[in-house]
Amino acid sequence: MTVTTLVSAYLVLVGLLAGSFVNLAADRVPRGESIMRPRSHCRACGRVLNLVDLLPVAGYVIRYGRCASCGTSIGIYSPLLEFVCGASMLTSILWLGLWPGAIVGLALIAGLGAAVVGLAIARRSALRARA
Ligand SMILES: [Zn+2]
Repeated sequence: MTVTTLVSAYLVLVGLLAGSFVNLAADRVPRGESIMRPRSHCRACGRVLNLVDLLPVAGYVIRYGRCASCGTSIGIYSPLLEFVCGASMLTSILWLGLWPGAIVGLALIAGLGAAVVGLAIARRSALRARA
């Protein structure tokens, strides 16, 4: 395995984790909550998520898409967004090489993240206006 392969794998992992962060931001920012505290938890039962829960995509598969404590459905959009972010990085690197692929991948993820959080804010505002 070459150094380039290792660095590429690391960057894809960073992409997956960035997707996980976008999920958190899209959930919390529209509610006016902090993206730092409290630690990630189930909205239904309050259980703090552990390492397995937080694994991008794999955590969803391992938990069958449900909270390990209360069984509340996580929803397919969380792992889907994580996958898309990881795939954006992988595709960029495969297409353009490590450089500038990594930068293009990060830019794609940042743009996607901004769009997803923006849509979540707009959706929340629309729901509030209707209520
Ligand atoms: Zn729960």
